[in-house]
Amino acid sequence: MVNIKIIEEIERLREEIRRHNYLYYVLDAPEKNDAEFDALFDRLVELEREHPELITPDSPTQRVGGEPSSEFKQVRHTLPMLSLGKATSHGEFIAFHNRICDGLGISRESKVRYACEPKLDGLAVELVYREGALVLASTRGDGIIGEDVTANVRTIRSIPLTLREKHPLVEVRGEVVFPRAEFDKMNEQRVADGAEPFANPRNAAAGSLRQLDSKVTAERPLTAWFYGIGALDLEGEFPPTTHTEELELIARLGLKRIFMAKTLEGPDEVARYFEEISKQRDELGVEIDGVVVKVDEIGRQRMLGEISRSPRWAVAWKFPAQEKITRLVDVIWNVGRTAAVTPVAVLDPVEIAGAMVQRASLHNEDQIKRLGIKIGDSVRVRRAGDVIPEVVSPLEELRTGDETEIVPPEDCPVCSAHLVKEPGDVYRRCPNISCPAIVAEAIEHWASRTGMDIDGLGPKQVEQLLAEGLIADVADLYMLKPEQLIELERFAEKSAERLVQAIDASRERPLGRFIHALGIRHVGESNARLLAEKFQSLENLSSATAESLVEIDGIGPEIAASVVDFFTNEENRALLEKLDRAGVRPIPPENSAGDRPLEGRTFVITGTLDKPRDAIKAILTSAGAKVASSVSSKTDFLIAGDSPGSKLDRARELGVEVISGDTLDEFLRERGVSPK
Ligand SMILES: [Zn+2]
Repeated sequence: MVNIKIIEEIERLREEIRRHNYLYYVLDAPEKNDAEFDALFDRLVELEREHPELITPDSPTQRVGGEPSSEFKQVRHTLPMLSLGKATSHGEFIAFHNRICDGLGISRESKVRYACEPKLDGLAVELVYREGALVLASTRGDGIIGEDVTANVRTIRSIPLTLREKHPLVEVRGEVVFPRAEFDKMNEQRVADGAEPFANPRNAAAGSLRQLDSKVTAERPLTAWFYGIGALDLEGEFPPTTHTEELELIARLGLKRIFMAKTLEGPDEVARYFEEISKQRDELGVEIDGVVVKVDEIGRQRMLGEISRSPRWAVAWKFPAQEKITRLVDVIWNVGRTAAVTPVAVLDPVEIAGAMVQRASLHNEDQIKRLGIKIGDSVRVRRAGDVIPEVVSPLEELRTGDETEIVPPEDCPVCSAHLVKEPGDVYRRCPNISCPAIVAEAIEHWASRTGMDIDGLGPKQVEQLLAEGLIADVADLYMLKPEQLIELERFAEKSAERLVQAIDASRERPLGRFIHALGIRHVGESNARLLAEKFQSLENLSSATAESLVEIDGIGPEIAASVVDFFTNEENRALLEKLDRAGVRPIPPENSAGDRPLEGRTFVITGTLDKPRDAIKAILTSAGAKVASSVSSKTDFLIAGDSPGSKLDRARELGVEVISGDTLDEFLRERGVSPK
């Protein structure tokens, strides 16, 4: 029998979490800090775990659903999702206005009221809420039948599972988009992982939403804005009579209303709006490709009706073409920071949407093959927003016969090392750790906290030392003298000495860290530790065969091949010898028992602390501890900062040792862990 108090607490927590989500994701004005929010959320998770019979699908904990599905179910939209007619110039927009006036039987000089908004370049969706609860989400599809993407849409944090008002039926329409900054970050990561980058944020949004496994969607930073209403039953309440009122309803229900929407009088005001929006286009953080103009009054919309699945009362006024045709002069191969070698198109300079374009991305070899592109081809080049322009396609009909094939290099264009292309990787990569193109990144990785942990050696310093010719590889770091550094900008006597000391201190680090710091592809922190434990020395590891490597639990053939490749590369071997001569002596695991003094201990962190939670977590895990999200009988320590919330009560109940924020450093030092 469930206590009524528990039911009430669960309801209260859900309400509070929903309110917070609304403030955070929709209004962008949170009242609680993350720690406070986490405390609420964790408490709800805990209660629901204890009382699974009380879990409801609209609980904020139920965003990521069950098993991946094998296909998308088809969904028939209650009302068709119409596609908009287009205008691509001011003249075409005026023609639209004239058709409106003619259709309404009013003079073309009349001031028609228009609702205007940016046209998002994402994936159109429709959400169906019954009695305030999200029951269905579908893509536009062909406008009549779309695909059921409910499980995936539920993972988008800015989309409420419950509306702020309960009505029998609300259908809203909007656009799921992939924010620009996140898009660039994700593509960078995909390149690093050997996956093909997404061509543009729209493809990324579509690819993320059309995932059969909603857990994948949940990891993508999708968001959505809403700009339309489908079927509606507000039970007694009058439905909106204008588009502007529809947008107000959308906001009132707790959904993100399309930004920068304006209600304007007549075509001149709309034209000014169009200019304004196109100027701000690159700064919006999401892709838009024009402005949508709708007749505001719904009565008038009905009068105008539709024609071949497009409403007569609305138009998508698109920004001018961002594609131009020019000649592909050459292809150069660029070695990126992840050692991936990528093709870059060299073009006859051409102006596209206000910028001179001479270089464009060709993405990768597969893309070149797919496009069938050749040097000398006339090519269509697209520039979207502030992204790197890309070659869209060749114009084969313009070929003269003098075009030549694009041949990917066998050797690194920078250091001439033989490039490596692994199965499943779309890129060839330079395997040479001393390749100048990769060296800066390699040194930063070497010095990073999870590597050799050299305090004060960040990207800026690395760049400076490389530019001054003081270092060419990581081994050179160990030859640096304070007097060389003092000469440099930004260095004083103290800071120069400190850096040299920090470098010196990194001569003796656990073998696992050393292996990780080498930056062997596919060998992350935990694999590096595993290799250190199994092989005990660099000598053993460097002579290991792929066969002996794959015998280790957790090391697959891909990692094994990568390790063998690394140690057979001559430059890498030379570097290891140089490091040895420089006195860099990694400590084998048996002598570094002090390295994981918190092995087997489980911590939970709560409340507001001086250090970011991630930093504390990193310190604890690198000392061997586990960090859990909720307090249980398995918890050894609770680190409690200010406003710790329910976790502290729970810890006291269970007799878990509590460490306060201000005694944390002391606690760590006592156990031989650096609190840095
Ligand atoms: Zn190279």
